[in-house]
Amino acid sequence: MLVKKGYFGGYGGRYVPETLIPALEELDDAFRALKTDSGFQAKLRQLNADYIGRPTPLYFAEKLTAQLSGARVYLKREDLAHTGAHKINNAVGQALMAKKMGKKRLIAETGAGQHGVATATAAALFGLECEIYMGCVDAKRQSLNVFRMKLLGAKVTEVNLGSQTLKDAINEALRDWTANVSTTHYVMGTVFGPHPYPTIVREFQSIIGKEAKRQILKAEGRLPDYLIACVGGGSNAMGLFHAFLTDKSSGNPAGNIKYIGVEAGGEGINTSRHAARFAGGSTGVLQGTKSYLLQDDDGNVLGTHSVSAGLDYASVGPEHAWLHDTNAVQYTYATDTEALNAFEILARTEGIIPALESSHAVAEAIKIVPGLPKSAIVIINLSGRGDKDVEQVARILSAVV
Ligand SMILES: *Cc1c(COP(=O)(O)O)cnc(C)c1O
Repeated sequence: MLVKKGYFGGYGGRYVPETLIPALEELDDAFRALKTDSGFQAKLRQLNADYIGRPTPLYFAEKLTAQLSGARVYLKREDLAHTGAHKINNAVGQALMAKKMGKKRLIAETGAGQHGVATATAAALFGLECEIYMGCVDAKRQSLNVFRMKLLGAKVTEVNLGSQTLKDAINEALRDWTANVSTTHYVMGTVFGPHPYPTIVREFQSIIGKEAKRQILKAEGRLPDYLIACVGGGSNAMGLFHAFLTDKSSGNPAGNIKYIGVEAGGEGINTSRHAARFAGGSTGVLQGTKSYLLQDDDGNVLGTHSVSAGLDYASVGPEHAWLHDTNAVQYTYATDTEALNAFEILARTEGIIPALESSHAVAEAIKIVPGLPKSAIVIINLSGRGDKDVEQVARILSAVV
């Protein structure tokens, strides 16, 4: 049965088996109740401050600004959050929700391992059991993250079905959730999946934009002209954009802000090796939600590629599909080469090594900032730090020289 609920325009919804509907309803009820529960909100505020290290700074990148010689460039420093990326904001929020709902166990799927590590971290913090599903191929590629999750007390279950990667891990995690829904919360890692997940994840990530708005008003006395974020599933981008998109303050209408989402252009969108869903995709249903999707003419999901694991996925959050179609956000892409170049430039100019995912947002800034007036203000969401990527980049660069 198909139950339609939680749409963004024509996107989103709940394309799931009937057996999962009660769990999604329970989650939706709990989420609505906790949004106005002062005890929950106070605890979340305290964990955001003392555990995650929020607010993360909004850093004026003076040297990058001088080098690009255009707009003033600010970095929202999610790379300084506990565990090194924005994913922890959502993992801690959902784990606290699970605890309040009386769940004993968290499960999640992970591709590169970043969401698995964030979920295992939050499970350790709340004393919840944790099981992470990961394709065998991914587990081998990301053995350090597998060890990290185990160190944090999680059970890592390697899935040796199908392509032994993310989509097979998702199927196994969903099977587990269906069987154990009374004790178990499924932690979705991005603004994706059936309603209410895209809304829940947006809510926990929207702290990024709330802080950035306050911080830029303090630093510059006005709202920015551009917001730039990379888009995998789309959670760091929604996290930065949401508070600005919904801003109604007079004098500086948020409608004047240009929002740019940067997808993975991989080896170029004329090859089959990319993950630019808006440039190369069409409408379809995957993992319980309707959105843009890289698929062939028969609706088979296509393989994707990106130098950054976190952007390497065939679909994108449904709210982004809607923001795309309504022209509220402009979507573009950066290739692997452009992202690697941005990775090196930010390291050298600012002494900040960005995640390869975030490097896609930096790459877009490098393209547009030189053409902007000096008075313009640009905020780049630096979604994560690049420590996890240094080995991979060393391999790529040494192969190039
Ligand atoms: C996972 C990840 C992303 C991509 O996920 P979104 O949901 O699109 O934010 C981006 N940056 C970093 C550092 C990540 O770990």
